Amino acid sequence: MELDLDGGRLLVFVGGLLLFAAIETRFPARPWQESRMKRAFFHGMVAALNTVIIRLFIYVPFLLWVVYIEEQGWGISRWLGLDGWLEIILSLLVLDLFDYIWHRINHRFSFLWRFHKAHHADNEVDVTTALRFHPGELILSSLSKAIWVVIWGPTPIAWFLFEGLISLCAQFHHSNTDLPDAIEKRVSRLIVTPRFHASHHRVDPQYGDANYSTIFSFWDPLFRSYSLAPTAPYGQLPPEVIGLAEARDRSLSFAAWLTEPFSQRNRGSSSQKGL
Ligand SMILES: [Zn+2]
Repeated sequence: MELDLDGGRLLVFVGGLLLFAAIETRFPARPWQESRMKRAFFHGMVAALNTVIIRLFIYVPFLLWVVYIEEQGWGISRWLGLDGWLEIILSLLVLDLFDYIWHRINHRFSFLWRFHKAHHADNEVDVTTALRFHPGELILSSLSKAIWVVIWGPTPIAWFLFEGLISLCAQFHHSNTDLPDAIEKRVSRLIVTPRFHASHHRVDPQYGDANYSTIFSFWDPLFRSYSLAPTAPYGQLPPEVIGLAEARDRSLSFAAWLTEPFSQRNRGSSSQKGL
């Protein structure tokens, strides 16, 4: 059972990566500044390190925790007696709302921002950016998810679907894809699109501290954090508007990425983070 789930997860992950890499190659929104091979190699190393850390410290304890919660019958979903597709759909919505809140908190508090910043220190946004998370952020977000899971009480199947969907959606909305305007307009009402999320990677805090949604896009308009940066024709967006002003020179440095949370340069953050 576990092998099948593992195989399925790997297939979705690698399949999504290749699919969105092919789509962004065919319909790019912005020209790449760096060699794509260099970016893929750098973010591949990040993903390899994160996979080891997740396997060692997170994956099995978390799975056991979700199963244990279900056995105990804990969580709002269990108390309401939800099951079947209704439980799965509501769990996807509620867990995605939790992710929206967590992402927003990451931008608000400097301790969490130190870790999340390693993701935003990329000077470009493409499908490989979806791999670029600091292991510290992954551990902290797993701890927060462990609490949210006990509050809501999703079934293990809903949890697995949510995790698979998160992975695919992150690859999609980080991809450097230019959707036609008509499709973009319709899809972005429900799902976070590349244009919606590329705006979140802008240096300008008016856009960088907005658009926190992960799967469903309606949380931002609902909670008044929606702000979409104006688009520019292909090749006309100045490269310095994406990323972090204070991290431009070390976007693809492994040592700088790993030590980002402990860097003194955090004090100069352009976004004025609180405690
Ligand atoms: Zn962010």
